[in-house]
Amino acid sequence: MIPTRQQLFQKLFPNEPSYRWKQALSGLFSQAKGWKEVSAFPSFLREAVEKDISWISVQVKTIEKTKDNETIKSLLQLTDGLEIESVLMRNARDAWTICISSQVGCAMRCAFCSTGAMGLKRQLSQDEIVDQYRFWQQYKIQEQIHGRISNIVVMGMGEPMANYENVRDALNILCEYTDVGPTKITVSTAGIFASLDHLLEDTLWPPVRMAISLHSADPLVRPRIMPSTPYDFFDHLRDWTKAYLEKQGNRTHHLTFEYILLDGINDRPEDAKKLITFIHSIDSHRIRVNLIPYNKAEGDLRSSTKKQRDAFQRLLKESDIITTLRTSYGQEISAACGQLAGKS
Ligand code: SAH
Repeated sequence: MIPTRQQLFQKLFPNEPSYRWKQALSGLFSQAKGWKEVSAFPSFLREAVEKDISWISVQVKTIEKTKDNETIKSLLQLTDGLEIESVLMRNARDAWTICISSQVGCAMRCAFCSTGAMGLKRQLSQDEIVDQYRFWQQYKIQEQIHGRISNIVVMGMGEPMANYENVRDALNILCEYTDVGPTKITVSTAGIFASLDHLLEDTLWPPVRMAISLHSADPLVRPRIMPSTPYDFFDHLRDWTKAYLEKQGNRTHHLTFEYILLDGINDRPEDAKKLITFIHSIDSHRIRVNLIPYNKAEGDLRSSTKKQRDAFQRLLKESDIITTLRTSYGQEISAACGQLAGKS
């Protein structure tokens, strides 16, 4: 395991007061370009830290942009040579959303997702998660890109709930040291209940939004496209969702179910009915269904037609279920959901 910056700092400077690390974090999120510019530090510390602790844990290898410059994908190299992808997308608020990775590769092996095909290489550290934000912040300044980063989605490579503590600690740092509030951060998960159950009790888990990659409400179909599905998935998800919404108390805090529409697999009227029945068995007014057009990855799955998608959405609406349709960005540079595979 690579030690985090904080661990290194504490090891190298055990006699420094505890507020020093907060100063270090403020420095990391300031305009400073290196430890030498962290003005809160006494000069001996600036020099010493500069020598022993890296300023940023990700280095850009390649950048790809869509023709309209509205989606930018970076391939980032980590200190051990492994690579991850991270995406900057313009959003409807004339600001930017970043899509960050939580692992190198992924163990979930969802049939529709390119990341799964590479398997899991390793967890990302707290620094590597946080530094994807810092990388884009710095890139925006360097390229004179206007508009702030207003939203963060943990929807890049990896399964965030399989790297729970590092994701949690990174999110807490992002909530404290950036102007992106917790309600503007969404963590998407295939549904790892060991972590999801723990999250309900964890006072350190920040009040970010959660999205569950559901993709089918049929107990025979979901395991086929998402082999990580446990046998009691739907019962567990129902109980978890009730407990989660109860805990959030706040009537405006909703939970999203993500649903990729796949031709002939989960997009028929009977599939919509199963989804409706499942949601009605919970608290339908605080669940949103985000319908996602399928972005071509490996394999022979096909996207639903617009007609199928409209019919599916109509059935949900008629049953009083709030749906949104995800706009897909970055397909021409394979930067869209499920297309991140870290190939150089
Ligand atoms: N492992 C997490 C986060 C990464 S995937 C999860 O499963 O949620 C982020 C989102 O992209 C999920 O909703 C996922 O289901 C979706 N996605 C994956 N592959 C896709 C594809 N080929 N087309 C469209 N969406 C995809």
